[in-house]
Amino acid sequence: MVAVADEKHFPIVGKQQQRLLWSYIIYFIILHTLSIYGCYLLIFTMPLSIFIRHIIVVDLMGKLGSFGIVAGAHRLWSHRSYRARLPLRIFLMLCHTMTFELSILKWSQLHRVHHKWSDTDADPHNSRRGFFYSHVGWLFFDQSPEYYEKEKTLNFDDLLADPIIRFQDQFYWPLLVITWAIVPMYLGHWYTGSSLFVCFTIEVMLRHCLALHHTFIVNSIAHKYGSRPYDPKIEPRDNYFVVYLALGEGYHNYHHTFPWDYSASEHGWQKTFNIITAFIDFCALFGLAYDLRKPSAEFIAKRSEKALKMIDNNNDDDDDDQHSTLSTSSTSKNIGFYNLIIILLDNLIGLMINTIGLVLLAALKIVVFYYS
Ligand SMILES: [Zn+2]
Ligand SMILES: [Zn+2]
Repeated sequence: MVAVADEKHFPIVGKQQQRLLWSYIIYFIILHTLSIYGCYLLIFTMPLSIFIRHIIVVDLMGKLGSFGIVAGAHRLWSHRSYRARLPLRIFLMLCHTMTFELSILKWSQLHRVHHKWSDTDADPHNSRRGFFYSHVGWLFFDQSPEYYEKEKTLNFDDLLADPIIRFQDQFYWPLLVITWAIVPMYLGHWYTGSSLFVCFTIEVMLRHCLALHHTFIVNSIAHKYGSRPYDPKIEPRDNYFVVYLALGEGYHNYHHTFPWDYSASEHGWQKTFNIITAFIDFCALFGLAYDLRKPSAEFIAKRSEKALKMIDNNNDDDDDDQHSTLSTSSTSKNIGFYNLIIILLDNLIGLMINTIGLVLLAALKIVVFYYS
């Protein structure tokens, strides 16, 4: 395969030699069809009170899944940006399993290759292959030969050393059936009184569909639209739409510049919406999370200035000294009452924006309810 150099400095595009994964394609067709059917059931076939109950279950299960992905597979296991005690690791593993986004081991392997070779042939969801490919299309293909080559060069011993990851990997399918399907379906059935099939389409399929797209936008939108204040030479961008939909994961230019920051953002939750960072800080209060890693404010400022200069002189960046500039976590900062109110309001609004899909469904439901 020929790797073509683009106008900047990245090789692109490994379209060839990748087998289509028909099982994934068929599953995604079924998933979206049943999700649309679930929306139809919600809007046209049930009273408002039952609709609200379904929305509560979908949102609750969706949020739990987000904690498993963002606080677990991403910040804890992929990046080792903090450490967690056993109860928290078990909780995050179960939350992660209910999202049906592969095992933590595979998720982290893909993600580490994504970071080290972002937007090249080896990147599993290379954004230079187009918006659709980076969003969901990459799942319809086997990984590129370049991906497998690079994956072999990385060390995943730290992941394999964690008994929680090994346990999830070994019992993935039974755990998946319980956490992804049975628990949400029966919880919906118990709380709403709807049939198991209705709950399967809403609490399992629709929830899964929405949750997947919330994850995917980090790979697609946040690699294409937004600002690049920390490193203008890379594709990942800070995007507030993604920040809200992915519970604080949209500071993506920052995150690719400082991937080992446990808050995946410069300001944590004290100044910007970052509910997962608030969760990790909360866990840290009880000792469940510890060794929270974060660069000092001076180092971030220095890195930003250096990044701006890069545009002119095209110097390579050098992060060799980054680990020597860690500060303690932001939990120790004094916030003040007024700021706390602002933060709470921001997070409440952020959580509403996060459920925009469900809010739109509710708006449609109200329209239908009013005119019927
Ligand atoms: Zn990325
Ligand atoms: Zn990452």
